Amino acid sequence: MDLVAEGAVRLGIPLTEQQRTQFQHYFELLVEWNQRINLTAIEDLEGVQTKHFLDSIVGLLLIAEELKTSVPPSIVLNAIDVGSGAGFPGIPLKIVWPSLRLTLLDGTGKKVTFLKEVVQALNLADVDVVQGRAEEFALQTAYREQFDLVMARAVARLNTLVEYLLPFVRQGGFVMAYKGPSASAEFIEAQKAIAKLGGETSRFAPVSVPFLTEERRILLIKKTNRTPQAYPRQRGLPRKDPL
Ligand code: SAM
Repeated sequence: MDLVAEGAVRLGIPLTEQQRTQFQHYFELLVEWNQRINLTAIEDLEGVQTKHFLDSIVGLLLIAEELKTSVPPSIVLNAIDVGSGAGFPGIPLKIVWPSLRLTLLDGTGKKVTFLKEVVQALNLADVDVVQGRAEEFALQTAYREQFDLVMARAVARLNTLVEYLLPFVRQGGFVMAYKGPSASAEFIEAQKAIAKLGGETSRFAPVSVPFLTEERRILLIKKTNRTPQAYPRQRGLPRKDPL
């Protein structure tokens, strides 16, 4: 785990020996399970450390900056990673930010089984893993407007994604969407949806991930108003007919 350790130092988040071991164990489980179920196209040691682990943990800096707190934040936040897949960005963030209370949600049963295995093997406390669609979970009272931080990476175009994510956020909380090179076009396209769902853009920042040259952006949206009850619309509609 040399790259993730060195990258974390560059980000100002030096890893403990235990965190290094957790990343190593996570890598091994990812490669092992990837032979049986389709978790990720990236499974080489360098790629996983940079494109998955470091790419995920950069979000911590933005949140800490936004909340004007230490790295990792000293306050306890209630977070959900929507469409977590093989656990990104949620699990790497949890490793470097142990006080985070985290829910991992994914629609695919096999991925949820993998996530449960990782949570147990890495001995991660305060992590729930649940299977289901974002559109349906966000209507349940235990999930609707209950989270301080709602994150996602590589789940949908922004105008669809915000309809999945903003209903989970409590007023005053944040959406954190990890995006690649198409971010600017998607951002313009999503303006109407963000406003309709009660959000206001806090920052749309280029982020540099150690050892990566590709363009990355993280969009932080603050929830300023409650999301109207009509959203999210029923399963499939946010993608088929974005706001
Ligand atoms: N976030 C991970 C990452 O960055 O590697 C996984 C990305 S993968 C391309 C997209 C994941 O989102 C899949 O695991 C899929 O099952 C899940 N997903 C897509 N739409 C969803 C929805 N509406 N509700 C729940 N999960 C969803």
